[in-house]
Amino acid sequence: MSEGLAATELLYLRNTELARAQANVLRVVPEKRTHAYLVLDRSIFHPKGGGQPSDRGRISSPEFALEVKRAIFHQGVVIHWGRVVNGTPSTGPVSCELDWDYRHLVMRRHTAAHLLDHCLAKATSTRVETTDSWLDSPCYVGYKGVPPASQSLELAERLAEELIKAGARVKIEFLSPEQSKLVLKNAPNFERLPHLDEIRIVTIEGCDPIPCGGTHVSNVQDIGKLSILKAEQLPDSTFRVHFSVES
Ligand SMILES: [Zn+2]
Repeated sequence: MSEGLAATELLYLRNTELARAQANVLRVVPEKRTHAYLVLDRSIFHPKGGGQPSDRGRISSPEFALEVKRAIFHQGVVIHWGRVVNGTPSTGPVSCELDWDYRHLVMRRHTAAHLLDHCLAKATSTRVETTDSWLDSPCYVGYKGVPPASQSLELAERLAEELIKAGARVKIEFLSPEQSKLVLKNAPNFERLPHLDEIRIVTIEGCDPIPCGGTHVSNVQDIGKLSILKAEQLPDSTFRVHFSVES
């Protein structure tokens, strides 16, 4: 599917608020008559990865329309899979549109997850180490160790509420690995990053910078109300903090 194709330009890395864009279809692989896989030269669709569920939306031209149900990242290429709504998908120029309500919810949850890391560390006066996260349903962040006491969780929730009210900006930068190492001295997962020419660093004002390829809101105010729903102990000495965001 992705063989011989150049890496897809990932438009969401530099502009996370792009809900629509023009692109070119480079390859089409039909699946039966009802579905198809499409590769574009550039994409606003964030594929499933890094705890973030795949974007959904629509790719269309005067000749066809595809309801995008899933975007998959494979060897630098984003593969869009979905249902053919009308016509027959073909190569050439297309319009792309995200299901923005869903994407924006994921952006709010993603930013909330970073804020949660910061506030849990503050509330427990320890360094927290994340293991994984999932931002669809269920919505949680996983950490090493045992769940904090309920007072600490309540304190973390209050700290998050204060930061959201104060309205910190979320900054995105692209730095060289050398610059990143200096900036990321507190980021425990730096060594796990693949070797890249430039690393995308996300910083919520007042919090430690983090290397992250996901989509975030540009100000934590957009998160709305962050509620910690429960902490769940898992058998492998890790725990999950389940949370929700509401407007
Ligand atoms: Zn992130």
